[in-house]
Amino acid sequence: MKALDELTFDNRFARLGDAFSTHVLPDPLDEPRLVVASEAAMALLDLDPAVAETPVFAELFGGHKLWAEAEPRAMVYSGHQFGGYTPQLGDGRGLLLGEVYNEAGEHWDLHLKGAGMTPYSRMGDGRAVLRSSIREFLASEALHALGIPTSRALCVIGSSTPVWREKQERGAMVLRLAPSHIRFGHFEYFYYTKKSEQQAELAEHVLNLHYPECREQPEPYLAMFREIVERNAELIAKWQAYGFCHGVMNTDNMSILGITFDYGPYAFLDDFDAHFICNHSDHEGRYSFSNQVPIGQWNLSALAQALTPFISVDALKDALGLYLPFYQAHYLDLMRRRLGLTTAEEDDQKLVERLLKLMQNSGVDYTLFFRRLGDESAALAVARLRDDFVDRAGFDAWAEQYKERVARDGEYSEVQRRERMHAVNPLYILRNYLAQNAITAAESGDYSEVRRLHEVLSKPFEEQAGMEQYAQRPPDWGKHLEISCSS
Ligand code: AMP
Ligand code: MG
Repeated sequence: MKALDELTFDNRFARLGDAFSTHVLPDPLDEPRLVVASEAAMALLDLDPAVAETPVFAELFGGHKLWAEAEPRAMVYSGHQFGGYTPQLGDGRGLLLGEVYNEAGEHWDLHLKGAGMTPYSRMGDGRAVLRSSIREFLASEALHALGIPTSRALCVIGSSTPVWREKQERGAMVLRLAPSHIRFGHFEYFYYTKKSEQQAELAEHVLNLHYPECREQPEPYLAMFREIVERNAELIAKWQAYGFCHGVMNTDNMSILGITFDYGPYAFLDDFDAHFICNHSDHEGRYSFSNQVPIGQWNLSALAQALTPFISVDALKDALGLYLPFYQAHYLDLMRRRLGLTTAEEDDQKLVERLLKLMQNSGVDYTLFFRRLGDESAALAVARLRDDFVDRAGFDAWAEQYKERVARDGEYSEVQRRERMHAVNPLYILRNYLAQNAITAAESGDYSEVRRLHEVLSKPFEEQAGMEQYAQRPPDWGKHLEISCSS
């Protein structure tokens, strides 16, 4: 266990130099205070959890203090936003403080979001508000607990600094951790500005640090791209299987590591709705729930374009062709497990599709359906769940097929079935209204609800005593909350 001043830095991205990032100091928040910290994320830095409560913790992550070895930098990148190319973006309000390596030898980027203006702030104020910082924190740690690859969040620091959005709010900072903050948009920036030397340096950097095993392949860059395709396909399969809607899948929000990245107006589905759009600025539904699958491929094509100096177009196209089969395989595997199946049959895809259609037509709660399906034997569970469906005959027909399929799957006891299914079907999910309740309390200075919700969501598969209120469908007011894109 380490104290705060015992972190070891090795700032490999900063060493790439000024073509990649600019030195900027954090702009401190007034009266910084701890809102919430993640013990699990602190463990990634070998930090003693007790240090979160010390004043110096809030000072460090509220921008007042820095380690001598930290090298705060704003990174430059660009990206395709809603399908159009924006030639220059960059860390407009976040700073890469440095890279820390832990006792296991892992490197973690420390990225402080809401740290003030940078050369890339454009019209923005460089700040993040408490609301959006809490949302990023909760989602990062909740997705991780579900087994979905994601950047992590160490803490949220609140303040009295006024920040103007639709109304006056308070500034906050969230400390994000990831093995790298390099986005698809980094490659696009150097490609479209024709800075080929730097682009080659960036590619080498990513290959050496994050895909070293691809070095052994005859075409290392191609092997790396294939790996990125597969990781993204797997990531999006997990989003779809668990009902996560990212909301802003611009290429500047896509991680080169295939992890969930840059949380904005995201949402988990309450009722199953393939057409759900969580971002109220997304008028055309480009990033609707079901569109996430083709958009994943679209984004990979944008990355492929930026990699044409290193890889032949034919090879890139072949690699892109792997996306859908990878996606299908991962998705189906997860959905089979969610249905309690241990074997694979050709018609399983249809079984899943029919179920989703029925859920869509009846507005069935996506998370609770699967959880309850595992509560008891297949026959008892479907008999109980039947009432949630408007089209009873349709559901009965599906239920018959499901029961037959379960019978063919093998012999196992109700207990085995429950254990297996509950291990993949969460009881607790980060519903928008739960986040909103925690935010409302936090905005009035009470952080207990954020902390409790974080705690509950860190064990989403385990039933926790006294926490029934976190495993409910949303009340009417919480069903279709408008999550503001401004953050
Ligand atoms: P996002 O929508 O958060 O992914 O951000 C898109 C771009 O806008 C990134 O370059 C951000 O750094 C920048 N940005 C977002 N909000 C602000 C802000 N309040 N101040 C400065 N830049 C911002
Ligand atoms: Mg972004």
